[in-house]
Amino acid sequence: MHASVRIIISALALVGTGTALVAQTPPAPIVKVEGLRQISPHVHIIPDNSVPLVPNVGYIVGDRAALVIDTGLGPRNGAAVYEVAKKLAGSKPLYLVTTHFHPEHDLGAQAFPDTTRLIRSTDQVKDIAEFGLQLAKVFASRSPINAELLKDADFRKADITFERDYDLDLGGVQAKITAMGPNHTVGDTIVWVEPDRVLFSGDLAMRAQPAFASPHSSLRQWLASLDRLEALKPAVIVPSHGPTGDGTAFITGYRAYLTEIRDRTAAEKRAGRSVDQGVAAVTAALGDRAPDKARLAGAIKAAYAEAP
Ligand SMILES: [Zn+2]
Repeated sequence: MHASVRIIISALALVGTGTALVAQTPPAPIVKVEGLRQISPHVHIIPDNSVPLVPNVGYIVGDRAALVIDTGLGPRNGAAVYEVAKKLAGSKPLYLVTTHFHPEHDLGAQAFPDTTRLIRSTDQVKDIAEFGLQLAKVFASRSPINAELLKDADFRKADITFERDYDLDLGGVQAKITAMGPNHTVGDTIVWVEPDRVLFSGDLAMRAQPAFASPHSSLRQWLASLDRLEALKPAVIVPSHGPTGDGTAFITGYRAYLTEIRDRTAAEKRAGRSVDQGVAAVTAALGDRAPDKARLAGAIKAAYAEAP
């Protein structure tokens, strides 16, 4: 069945959603390490349980070293994520990569010891230089627990930087780390675990609607990124938020959604409509297939700017 075509709301306000669809206070953004589970020969994850401001945390464990993907929000979460890494990897060297620079993915890195080698794309370094702790301040202002978790949190400097791709040999398992360009953020980074056919897709392919979270976010780039993700033929996708997905369903779902927005928005622009009129018309056309109106508007605005 084509559940893939239908983007289902996560019902959880994530980055960039200003809508208060959910009235109750969300659970505290704590990584629940007891949820750790193995999903393939070399990959373990700690699921986010779809709690806002919690990422899916990944561990790829080889014979020689291990790679951690995403840290949780602030040093306290980072310390918990690190403890699990030690449990899984013993005394093996640790590497750390983040799917993007947003606080719940990155601002726990300082809890890892100096011996952990942090890998960043040059694009991610640019994101940090341009936007810094802006979003952390927004998150901290939302609740006392967020403020406490983010107290003294700051970006950690990369030990290893790369431009496009970085192949990390962990011993018996390769992690291919790729910078994907301006999609959700400029520094979106994916990790492909080749032998296990597991793809850590960041925010590029998830169950929830895509969030155009950066002024540099590009719908054209996002569609091109989806083609690259699909070409990998993943068996399992671990997005940075929400449930894991079998095969390419998240990818084809995102492509159908973004293609429709691109084409409808281009038609509005050709007909001489303003960007606001375009947002209204395309929002009406998508109807309840796109319940997160803020995320939808972000996609339409990007499409409008890029339409001929
Ligand atoms: Zn994000």
